[in-house]
Amino acid sequence: MSLQSRVEGLRARIQRACERADRDPASIELLPVSKKQPLALIREAAALGFTRFGENYVQEGADKAAATPGLSFVLLGPLQRNKARPALQSFAAIQSLDRPELAGRLRHLAEELDVVRPVWIQVDLWDEATKLGGCTEAALPALLDALGGDTRLPLQGLMAIPPPEEAGAFAQLAALRERLQQELGLPLRLSMGMSGDLEEAIAAGSDQIRIGTAFFGERLY
Ligand SMILES: *Cc1c(COP(=O)(O)O)cnc(C)c1O
Repeated sequence: MSLQSRVEGLRARIQRACERADRDPASIELLPVSKKQPLALIREAAALGFTRFGENYVQEGADKAAATPGLSFVLLGPLQRNKARPALQSFAAIQSLDRPELAGRLRHLAEELDVVRPVWIQVDLWDEATKLGGCTEAALPALLDALGGDTRLPLQGLMAIPPPEEAGAFAQLAALRERLQQELGLPLRLSMGMSGDLEEAIAAGSDQIRIGTAFFGERLY
């Protein structure tokens, strides 16, 4: 199947999900996740009008960013402290901020590099140590403290990767977003929903769906 027909299929899924949820499709950001996909496909997506891509690995994203001036990449994968500098240099936003030490490191480096990079907090609602990363609800206040409202790292939203088959996870995240918006007095976007569950995520209020395989096809390497 061509990239174009996969994208058309996705647009139709988003359209139907929005009709059922009484939402405006234009309000849903479709973020293509290009990890382990070749540059040629990213360029094909760019030709269809996509300019922003999600990547999981700092080095891979940095290489792709260097090869595609005019496109921007956001980091979705776990970030080690020792990769914080290249991450800030190569990515337009960090969507996987999940612990206070990392926030501190990013603030220090953002000042040193004189950059502004929107951040999203990755939420882990399940308190189990998964290798996916994420900040538990109990640990959120410490993370927000460490972020300290730094204008170089404006908080844009919450990102989550709920375990499959976890009924109610999307609604829990939506409720957490509401609560934090009230507490912080700022609008927060919600990034949830992937290839297999974008309909449920849109119904629950997601603003950004992150689509890898349903957009690009199977990951290659
Ligand atoms: C890989 C990945 C995606 C895309 O997953 P698909 O199931 O291929 O759509 C979305 N978000 C994150 C954080 C990922 O790591």
